[in-house]
Amino acid sequence: MIAATRTWLASVAEVGSEWVTWDFDQIKCADPVERETKTTAPSCQSPILRWPRVFVVFWSTLVFLIEADAARFVCYFPLPPNATTMPIDPTQPLPMADDCLPDSIAKPWREYRDAWAAHHANPGNATVRKALGIEGADESVSPSSGDAAARSMRLPASEWLLYTSKHFSLVTDVPEARAAAIIINLERFYAVWTQLFFPLWKDRRAGNLPPTNVRHRVVIISDANQFRELVRGELAGTKAEGIYSDLKRTSYFLDSDDDAASMWHEITHQLLNEATTDRSRTRAGERQDFWMVEGIACYMESMTIVGDHATVGGWQSSRLQYARHQLLGTGTDMPLATMRRDGRIAVQRRDDLVRWYTVAAANVHQMADHENGAGWLGVLKQLATIYQGNRSELARCNHPPSVSLASYLDIDDSQLQAVAPGSMASLCLTRTRVTSDGLAKIAPQSKLRWLDVSFLTIETDDVTQLCPLPDHLEQLSLEATGIDAGIAPWIATAKRLREVDLSSTRIDDSVIASIDADAPMETLWLTGATITDASIDTIAAMRTLKYVDVQRTGVSAAGVARLCQQRPDLVVNPLEIAP
Ligand SMILES: [Zn+2]
Repeated sequence: MIAATRTWLASVAEVGSEWVTWDFDQIKCADPVERETKTTAPSCQSPILRWPRVFVVFWSTLVFLIEADAARFVCYFPLPPNATTMPIDPTQPLPMADDCLPDSIAKPWREYRDAWAAHHANPGNATVRKALGIEGADESVSPSSGDAAARSMRLPASEWLLYTSKHFSLVTDVPEARAAAIIINLERFYAVWTQLFFPLWKDRRAGNLPPTNVRHRVVIISDANQFRELVRGELAGTKAEGIYSDLKRTSYFLDSDDDAASMWHEITHQLLNEATTDRSRTRAGERQDFWMVEGIACYMESMTIVGDHATVGGWQSSRLQYARHQLLGTGTDMPLATMRRDGRIAVQRRDDLVRWYTVAAANVHQMADHENGAGWLGVLKQLATIYQGNRSELARCNHPPSVSLASYLDIDDSQLQAVAPGSMASLCLTRTRVTSDGLAKIAPQSKLRWLDVSFLTIETDDVTQLCPLPDHLEQLSLEATGIDAGIAPWIATAKRLREVDLSSTRIDDSVIASIDADAPMETLWLTGATITDASIDTIAAMRTLKYVDVQRTGVSAAGVARLCQQRPDLVVNPLEIAP
């Protein structure tokens, strides 16, 4: 009997470590199958979900209204005076011209933003640099001894160095070159944040410049054990690799090469707490609306440096891939009205935090994207209420989304704005209306670890052009697409595959034979694929394989028996197929 039992390996509250897995009870070849269960393919930073096919909702039949294009805001950051820049076109304007904004806020916001645009157009303009408070020609920061700072912060013994930039105080034991790069990026993020969140800080200092007398404290630790020990009380047993402590007014991170999103998440918490005006006396989101506190931090994870400028938001944001998987792939949602009622404690007690974070993030994306970005003002209004006690000049800014979250996530070709080649680690477009033409608009993404384009009307060439080099790919779902045996040479080069779904496709035995024998394959869904007994020996030879389904294929009962005989440890045909 199958009992698909959820087991939280880690229930975490922050990005960067949201690993959740589900466990089958012991299911052996001879066990009868009573309920269909299926694994799909999110990678790390996401839940791994098995979904009962009988519960899948075909959202495409429910879509009536579609929002405008996702708003991908362009922002600027300090550049060296001799930097060469390219004009940015098209740009996503910030919505400061919206009618709901009083001139007292719209005008200075526009001027501040224009100054940044002028800096981008001519980084050498000293007048603009002075106006923005970035007179210095050099972005680099020299370290000093961090011993005193480390003592005062009760950091463990290490070779601490202190880096002081205009807005940050970084104590770290990572190599100097890395620390220098980190602090430059922190300053870039700060500049981006000030442009997007202008109404929340504009009254902090005369002249509408971000204050420079307050430096935000950041600690980055290279040793994982030291990091966990230091933040043990804050993390409460989770495996997060970054956290902002509002009590200590400090962000702590375990050093990681490829986890900028975690840093932007925590620094967003920090700046909203420390750099805005008139903070409320209670913790933000303590009693209700904690979804917005986390949702905005998740939204800002999408901040991406694109050469000489940055973008925030957009369809390609990592959190939206997981949201599409969750809402369109599995059909699971959470009503926002219910989420709004919960404060911090209630949320942190949930046993479905990963799903909760995914929906919170997607809701903020949807709000921001509404009316081509005008909805951003609605996001700021809610933040002003949460962080500033409802003293908001944004009171008249109401831009509630007009369609369901699932409808928002069901994008089509026209909404796929171009993304930089190799910039995505996860891509999920399952059950959307995207076609071959839409995929062709996405630049080649050869760093994908998770690709789910199941149920799209696409062919083999569309997949191989989207991800020419699948050597990072760990989880792949091509279910019910138009791929065929021509995918074999491509699959052969994907040597890290752990979970693959080729169900309901026109592949043949050559595709199974092409799977690298040394790939760490654990799950292989082949239900309804055109394979035969010729694949049995290949499947049996996949040493790490745990689950395989070959129902409704050309595999015979004798073939299944042979597989069970060769691999008695393997769970074969666990899916209950609806008649
Ligand atoms: Zn958070």
